[in-house]
Amino acid sequence: MGLFSGLEKFGLGKYAEASLMEDKRSSVRDINELEKKKAPEKKEEDILFDKRFICPVCDLEFKTKCVRAGKLKLLEKDTDLRPVYEVCDANKYDVITCDKCGYSSVTRYFGKLSVRQMKDIKTQIGDNFSGIDNSMDVFSYDDAILRYKLALVTSVIKKAKNSEKAYTCLKMAWVIRGKRLSLDPKDTGIKQLYAEEMECITNAYNCFVEALANETLPIAGMDENTVKYLMAELARKLKKFEDSAKLLGEVITSKTTHTRLKEEALNVKELLKEDIKKYNNK
Ligand SMILES: [Zn+2]
Repeated sequence: MGLFSGLEKFGLGKYAEASLMEDKRSSVRDINELEKKKAPEKKEEDILFDKRFICPVCDLEFKTKCVRAGKLKLLEKDTDLRPVYEVCDANKYDVITCDKCGYSSVTRYFGKLSVRQMKDIKTQIGDNFSGIDNSMDVFSYDDAILRYKLALVTSVIKKAKNSEKAYTCLKMAWVIRGKRLSLDPKDTGIKQLYAEEMECITNAYNCFVEALANETLPIAGMDENTVKYLMAELARKLKKFEDSAKLLGEVITSKTTHTRLKEEALNVKELLKEDIKKYNNK
């Protein structure tokens, strides 16, 4: 006999076999359905828009994909400050490339050119450049890496400061890492990508060393403690253990280091200790 049997006579027969408890599975399903309706799955293209620029080298207008910063949700940061976002790897979109003449730069340094630099870029890139397609809905990692390479070539031709070269190399390393981490762990291309990432990190580190010695702060928008923290982590990755330890010591003991950065430096110091142990046990 069911809990509600006997209700038939009141015209409530449909409840005869009803259960007092809600069917959890169906209510969970209902909630999921509701969530789906409320928040349709975000796509990379929803976070992007076409931004217009006037090229400082060829004077023509062009469009390229940019990220709507307000729509990005930061999930975490790697120890070398690479931001990881939900839905979209925004690091892919930080190079602005003129589709007509090839002039390319990370956003931070776009357009700040002397007459000599404009002339050199025009004759050494623009005159040979066969054009690039900026019109796709999203950039693949390879589209992005190609644009970073153009930005690096541009920085060499314009004889950019070491800080600009360092920053461009660092961000390119981040994009290569993004590609590497997006692949299946068994993918045979991973080793090569890791080698390319480390090459970028080597160049970034060497340029940051020169920048810190010869340029005025801030360097690539970073204060002294942040640059030193970053360099310490790059040095650790490059197995320059003494350099890493020295820089970390400076960050940790500096009176002007913020608590958060100090905590991150202490974390890297632990990683460094483990690396040295592993290295000595080899
Ligand atoms: Zn141009």
